[in-house]
Amino acid sequence: MSTTELSPFSAPEIRQTGILIGDEFRPSVSGKTFSTVNPATEDVICEVAEGDAADVDLAVRAARMAFESGPWSRMDARDRGRLLNRLADLLEKNFDELAALETLDNGKPISDSRAADLPLVIDCFRYYAGWADKIHGNTIPIRGDYFCYTRREPIGVCGQIIPWNFPMLMVAWKWGPALATGNTIVMKPAEQTPLTCLRMAELALEAGFPPGVINVVPGYGPTAGAALVRHPQVDKIAFTGEGLTAKIIMRDAAETLKRLTFELGGKSPNIVFADADLDAAVAGAEFGLFFNQGQCCCAGSRLFVEDSVHDEFVERMIARIRDRRVGNPFDQDTRQGPQVDQAQFDRILRYIDRGRAQGAECVAGGRRVGDRGYFVEPTVFTDVTDEMDIAREEIFGPVMSILKFSDLNEVSRRANNTAYGLAAAVWTRDVSKAHVLSRDLRAGTVWVNCYDVFDAAAPFGGFKMSGIGRELGEAGLANYTELKTVTMALNSR
Ligand code: ADP
Repeated sequence: MSTTELSPFSAPEIRQTGILIGDEFRPSVSGKTFSTVNPATEDVICEVAEGDAADVDLAVRAARMAFESGPWSRMDARDRGRLLNRLADLLEKNFDELAALETLDNGKPISDSRAADLPLVIDCFRYYAGWADKIHGNTIPIRGDYFCYTRREPIGVCGQIIPWNFPMLMVAWKWGPALATGNTIVMKPAEQTPLTCLRMAELALEAGFPPGVINVVPGYGPTAGAALVRHPQVDKIAFTGEGLTAKIIMRDAAETLKRLTFELGGKSPNIVFADADLDAAVAGAEFGLFFNQGQCCCAGSRLFVEDSVHDEFVERMIARIRDRRVGNPFDQDTRQGPQVDQAQFDRILRYIDRGRAQGAECVAGGRRVGDRGYFVEPTVFTDVTDEMDIAREEIFGPVMSILKFSDLNEVSRRANNTAYGLAAAVWTRDVSKAHVLSRDLRAGTVWVNCYDVFDAAAPFGGFKMSGIGRELGEAGLANYTELKTVTMALNSR
């Protein structure tokens, strides 16, 4: 059965599989290609040009030229904003095709691509379009007869390396602020999911972004990615992915002292007090962990439940999980699609085995679904303790670990006992508990009585080993600007 057989959404046309340099999609210099796979069927969707150092070099030259000369370097800020809005218009116009392409390449349910990914992508471009002509410096009253002011200038050529879990949304989070501030871009999409990024780049050309402003080099991390990080003509690297990769990038970038911003993993605590609205907490905890097949850096993967409501909570969670429909991502009623690839699938099943071996109780799921495609049952572990691997390490899959707690100070200490600090959530009707934990939890985002509420205007990023810098909001602009101080002698006396 094809993945689109049951669906009103037709299989999308694959328009671009080349490397975008300037205004041309071309084969790789080496002539090599790699396969991108449909995770629901394990079939190859198509071959994509495999870029490496030679292609990265050409892309960086194109980006450099576009930054230093040509229409982009002279464009009025407001016109940059207009181009971003035009790109948002074209994304809206091609909404059905893009949603289907994302579902095909990534495996996420079509209902999520349509209701979550694409609306957030479009909103992000429109939000940053609005910023383009509102980025300015200050006048500063320094001592003496001087006129002193600051300017916010683009950093230059930005290398952007993104993961596969939200392929289009990661493009939007990276391109939006970089383009609003006047930078040029060389992007390396994840090798698992290059297709929507290439299509978005084609739409950006159609929108009128001058050649060389956006370049896209699909390929692998240690080759194409590393070449981008090491390239002396790249001024900044923005990376989203694993902490281990970030460490390699930091080392590789040291030689040229590049600016770095990172959005990395997490093991986010989601804390449910006995006084919470339990229906809302169960639904929110399910969403907070299982959304996107559990492949979210901010997944609420340490679910702390107060002991007096623990058993009831677990019972209700298991009942909800039973109704979670896993299967063909093109079926409108599917809630959970396949994991993105074989490696992720194997890794998740290994964690499930380790959870059992270390003494946690698997009360729901725990196996693969079917024998084709990377489908994993929604899985719930109880009796999880802080030392177990499933409570400490990022699984990046549909595996929920439920831990018990008995008071606020205890849970605050345990929640913070991690090297990560991306997100956290608290479910309670007690305003004071909500405020105390919002203050004390060491995380870049704290959600109270909700989970995974994202908005282009609200900054997102990690404390500790979950990241450096913030994306989205006004804070996201700081990642893409250099501050210049100009001091002019007035000599008026
Ligand atoms: P994930 O587990 O989400 O795949 P990774 O950190 O492995 O996380 O991958 C995120 C992105 O980083 C991908 O685009 C990948 O190709 C890229 N990447 C992997 N290794 C490197 C590297 N050594 N240098 C630069 N980029 C890399």
